[in-house]
Amino acid sequence: MQVLLVEDHDELRDMLQAHLLQAGFAADAVRCGLDALAAVEAAPYDAVILDLGLPDLDGVEVLRRLRAGPGASLPILVLTARQSVGDRVQGLDAGADDYLVKPFDMLELDARLRSITRRTERRPEAPRLLCFGDLRFDPSAREATVGETTLALTRRETALLEELLRGGGRTMVRDVLEDRLYGFAEVFTGNALEATVSRLRRRLAAAGSAVAVETVRGIGYRLLAPSRMAT
Ligand code: CA
Repeated sequence: MQVLLVEDHDELRDMLQAHLLQAGFAADAVRCGLDALAAVEAAPYDAVILDLGLPDLDGVEVLRRLRAGPGASLPILVLTARQSVGDRVQGLDAGADDYLVKPFDMLELDARLRSITRRTERRPEAPRLLCFGDLRFDPSAREATVGETTLALTRRETALLEELLRGGGRTMVRDVLEDRLYGFAEVFTGNALEATVSRLRRRLAAAGSAVAVETVRGIGYRLLAPSRMAT
């Protein structure tokens, strides 16, 4: 199990990290909130141990940002020296799964850590790959590949490709695509969908894919794999 430890106190951090490693957790350690956010963006942790008193961002703010983004469902155990009930409630309100008040016993830390990770162990299965012709798309990594080549797609192009792939070659109605891909204002300020389709076609061609995005006149778009190879 991969744990991220966020603690600015050098000695405590080193001691906790050594203890976690000994207890069988793989533990990375950082000393401030921004590093914690970057670490969670970069690696798939199973849990975070988060000190609330940090030098840059307040721990509660770190918690909120994690919950709003990359750590939405990540088990988070808060460490706090703050004794007041208000602080603890604030931590739990901001999305902590549990908290420990310093000083604490290491065995207590292990127990809480195992408890919060058990609670979230039954995660939904990783979404399977979407495949069409020579295209592979991993919905969790938001990555499309043709053979060994990864397509360089913008977020919008990725979303369009995913919609078309989920259609599996069926025609996707343009109104529906517009609804799913664009905000109200964008739809009415021009040919946003056409532009995204054109760019996606260029990216597919550049990656050497044989899959085409076909315009179905008056209706919408669909994917076409000429030889229907390995679909
Ligand atoms: Ca601290």
